[in-house]
Amino acid sequence: MPQQPQQIWEDALSRIRQKVSGKQFETWFRRMRVMSIDDDSLVLGIPAAFYREWIERYYLSILKDALKDTLGRETTISFVVDTPQHRQLSFDWQSAGKDAGGDSSSLREVRPSGADIFEPLQLNDRYVFEDFIVGPSNRLAYAAAVAVSEAPGKVYNPLFIQGSVGLGKTHLLQAVCHLILERDLGTRILFMSCEGFVNKFISAVERGSTTVFREQCRSADLLVIDDIHFLANKERTQEEFFHTFNALYNAQKQIVLSSDCSPNDIPTLQERVVSRFKWGMVASIEQPSFETRVAIAKRKARQRDRELTNEVANYLAEKIETNIRELEGAVIKIIGYASLMNREINLEITQEALRDLLGHSKRIRMEDIRDAVVDYYKIKPADILSRKRSKSVAFPRQVCMYLSRRLTDCSLEEIGNFLGGRDHSTVLYAEEKIGKEYEQASQIRHDIDLLSQKVLRGR
Ligand code: ADP
Ligand code: MG
Repeated sequence: MPQQPQQIWEDALSRIRQKVSGKQFETWFRRMRVMSIDDDSLVLGIPAAFYREWIERYYLSILKDALKDTLGRETTISFVVDTPQHRQLSFDWQSAGKDAGGDSSSLREVRPSGADIFEPLQLNDRYVFEDFIVGPSNRLAYAAAVAVSEAPGKVYNPLFIQGSVGLGKTHLLQAVCHLILERDLGTRILFMSCEGFVNKFISAVERGSTTVFREQCRSADLLVIDDIHFLANKERTQEEFFHTFNALYNAQKQIVLSSDCSPNDIPTLQERVVSRFKWGMVASIEQPSFETRVAIAKRKARQRDRELTNEVANYLAEKIETNIRELEGAVIKIIGYASLMNREINLEITQEALRDLLGHSKRIRMEDIRDAVVDYYKIKPADILSRKRSKSVAFPRQVCMYLSRRLTDCSLEEIGNFLGGRDHSTVLYAEEKIGKEYEQASQIRHDIDLLSQKVLRGR
């Protein structure tokens, strides 16, 4: 007897449930349903377009395996956006789920409208104030974040935290949410990455539900947007964000934002938005000092029930200077390696474990390339991120793209995003163009060779 799509999906869901956390399950899988199925393909309905990207990026193999185990064969999976009308008709699916899942409490959380932007908050348990090591580099940002959590909407509004990648912006933003929720569990928190905000706005536009989107944004008590520099070059979303910002600000609701550059340096950000970002407090996180890095390395090990000796912690802090995410990654790697080898964590095992990580000296960052290029061509750092197309700016920008492709492992997308939110095709174009010129024109070759040497020597 052929199985019903419903049964197949329920069966697959129960397999998926064993592989992902409860939150991930509720957020990503609960809201999908089977739209159609035949011998070798299956169509899943998703509540919004951005689900596809996430599922494909993070959960595709889990999904595929679950369906393969259920069906006993491979199947191609495709996605369609499941409209709200559809969802209301999907009552059967939900009640069928109740029988199969047997967990009625979580089912109550299934929201019939795919347009709801208040998804369950996905906070990392470790991103709390207690686990944030404070030093001279981040004291101001930390103090401001605590102050804002203690009196939301009253002290600094907005709070704008700025700092380069891996220095604890997201950690602080989440710590604000943790503390505010601890004080009042009923606070309506809207925590989004800027990308999430953009995607949700776009999908609201697509489905003609911008009014709902707007109302929901404005009903928040606390709006937190991570990596707001992604607003660069997204004029319509900026407009929408501007109005959301004003509505919340006027209602004295707290707004917290993070960015990897200052408000002024976010390309094409409208002046009125820039000025609002500076109304409250702009707090920077700088590179942590050696002592702070040592303390962080030790704390990250202790969180995993391991102790690092001074020798090991100092070694790590010396080797990894600019990115705490990398420092933490190294600690995790050492712990894993030591337990695999069944040995104590000492300097020797640390060096062994990190051989590939540190073998060749420090990795080159796009920031290093940008700095060298800006310096060499005597232009302003903000110009390289801007929309300006004059040759004096456009050319160094292309050189920057070219060198980033040659000297880093960054993808076209990452480079485009870093250089002012540009499309990957722009980066590809620059890579080819400069590559050709390099072959043909000796002056350009000279410039580029010099720049490469500078960047490599600066490591
Ligand atoms: P960003 O958002 O600025 O790129 P994150 O907040 O994601 O950086 O931080 C990267 C990692 O480093 C996280 O695991 C975070 O917990 C850790 N981290 C950063 N700063 C600190 C700090 N001062 N104390 C403890 N951990 C930190
Ligand atoms: Mg972050």
